Amino acid sequence: MSNPLFYQKTQGKLPSYSKVLSDIGNGEVDSLVLIPVRQEVVVNYKNGDSVRVPILRNDQQILRTAEASNTPLTVKDIRGEAAIAGLAGNIGLILIVIVGLSFLLKRSANVANRAMGFGRSQPRIKAQEEVPIRFEDVAGVNEASLELMEVVSFLRAPERLINLGAKVPKGVLLVGPPGTGKTLLAKAIAGEAGVPFFSLAASEFVELFVGVGASRVRDLFRQAKEKAPCIIFIDEIDAVGRQRGAGIGGGNDEREQTLNQLLTEMDGFADNSGVILLAATNRADILDSALMRPGRFDRRIIVSLPDRRGRYEILSVHARTRPLAEEVNLSDWALRTPGFSGAELANLLNEAAILTARNHKKLITNIEIEAALERITLGLGSKPLQYESKKRLIAYHEIGHALVASLTPFADKVDKVSIVPRMGGIGGFTRFWPDEEIIDSGLVTKGYLFSKLVVALGGRAAEILVFGTDEVTQGASGDLENVSRLAREMVTRFGFSSLGPVALDGAGSEVFLGRDLISTKPNYAESTGKAIDAQVRELAFSALGQALSLLGPKRETMDRLVEALIEEETLNTERFLSLAGIKDEHGID
Ligand code: ADP
Ligand code: MG
Ligand code: ZN
Repeated sequence: MSNPLFYQKTQGKLPSYSKVLSDIGNGEVDSLVLIPVRQEVVVNYKNGDSVRVPILRNDQQILRTAEASNTPLTVKDIRGEAAIAGLAGNIGLILIVIVGLSFLLKRSANVANRAMGFGRSQPRIKAQEEVPIRFEDVAGVNEASLELMEVVSFLRAPERLINLGAKVPKGVLLVGPPGTGKTLLAKAIAGEAGVPFFSLAASEFVELFVGVGASRVRDLFRQAKEKAPCIIFIDEIDAVGRQRGAGIGGGNDEREQTLNQLLTEMDGFADNSGVILLAATNRADILDSALMRPGRFDRRIIVSLPDRRGRYEILSVHARTRPLAEEVNLSDWALRTPGFSGAELANLLNEAAILTARNHKKLITNIEIEAALERITLGLGSKPLQYESKKRLIAYHEIGHALVASLTPFADKVDKVSIVPRMGGIGGFTRFWPDEEIIDSGLVTKGYLFSKLVVALGGRAAEILVFGTDEVTQGASGDLENVSRLAREMVTRFGFSSLGPVALDGAGSEVFLGRDLISTKPNYAESTGKAIDAQVRELAFSALGQALSLLGPKRETMDRLVEALIEEETLNTERFLSLAGIKDEHGID
């Protein structure tokens, strides 16, 4: 068999999917090649035949059957190969050699020139000619990719749009939190359009030597114009694009020169030159306003964290090449991972695959995904504490959090209570099911926030009730920090106190080097400061009071839960609720 991937002959009718499955099971199949891009499997029969069978995006059946019958299965990304095969044999090769040689000659001729201007002696930015990423590899960002399709169709046939008199965007800014697939999207645009892709991180521009950043920008644009239509992608553009005049130690620094050069170049190239500038950032708020002017990055595309459906799709994309056990329901895992970015979801399945291999298993089961989730959210697990009394105290503390949560109407539902310490020194942990609605909408109610205070103090409350005020530990210090931070925000930012509906702090008072450094003094009177402190303390006290009064009458329940927790080390939702004797998730029935 030469190259099974380019097997073109079709033996009459395609065999049915179930026929292929049973053939694999019967050992008639020699090997399988999975091609995720095409969503198909090439089935190579022992008798020399081979056929292609289309599969669904997240088709696990064939992966599983192959694993079960020990049929060798390889996953192929054929995009690169197809491109090479497309070059017609030897002639192509000779051409490459000639082009390569003349390129080398040119380069060496340039060396002398470059030695003079050290700006250009920087390693050149090379374009990636064939980008293998497609839109289908980027899941859960449908709105974003719809807008970007326009860019793609321009790059594919610039003349057509130009003839129509259409105005094409020059610069598109992708804005979103880390790991949401901005870089991936940029590559997908290049891949879909089949154009060269110049990519570099903005921090690479900013070199130690003055003038180098700007000259790299010039160099980049010169190259790009030669290769048009093409894409220039500047990752983390905030590294150069920050508001000018914001730097400490004089404004006219290297970064500014680089930015100015970037702006000049953007103005300099014509609207329809076929070069499209893409940039990504997670801090659009700090970008220099000059970057956003019409004719520059005038189009902004928000890439947000995926919602539940998006998470399901992203998991499916990454499950295409990983055999999952029948029991694994990706939509359940999408439900359990609110707030996860695409990168974190990819990592989740990757970790699970590693654990599966380590356990000498062939299929990824819920156990591995669960372990991977824990490892990602909490760090590595270690052995439970040996000291009985400390273990008991930790158990009461964690049960305190969990029980308070299950007795508080607005609080998140308990997912898991554990006394297995995690690396990073947490003695135990209580994990909650985050509220999907809140995470997706970004809106929280006063009642919800207060319940968070109560739950956070539930650990300390249990310690007080069981061991007395002298025996409480500093183990709750992390909880206390959270309480202070949250309570302060409630008072100063959300207007959730008797100080009224006023914002008493510069938004989040995140100090951003330079500009804000000068103005970090609070914008309220000293007496207001005192009032804020008093309000914060009052919130904390009333939350602790509520936790104590919830747990007070539940001593027996706590004891029962603690015994079970010490015995079993981890309690999941059902076990916890049944031990606590709570039917409804929130104890209100
Ligand atoms: P960003 O540039 O926004 O920080 P990346 O594009 O670098 O994020 O994403 C890192 C990795 O996470 C990707 O290579 C991919 O494996 C995964 N990933 C992120 N977002 C998605 C998505 N929407 N769909 C599929 N995979 C994703
Ligand atoms: Mg990125
Ligand atoms: Zn705690």
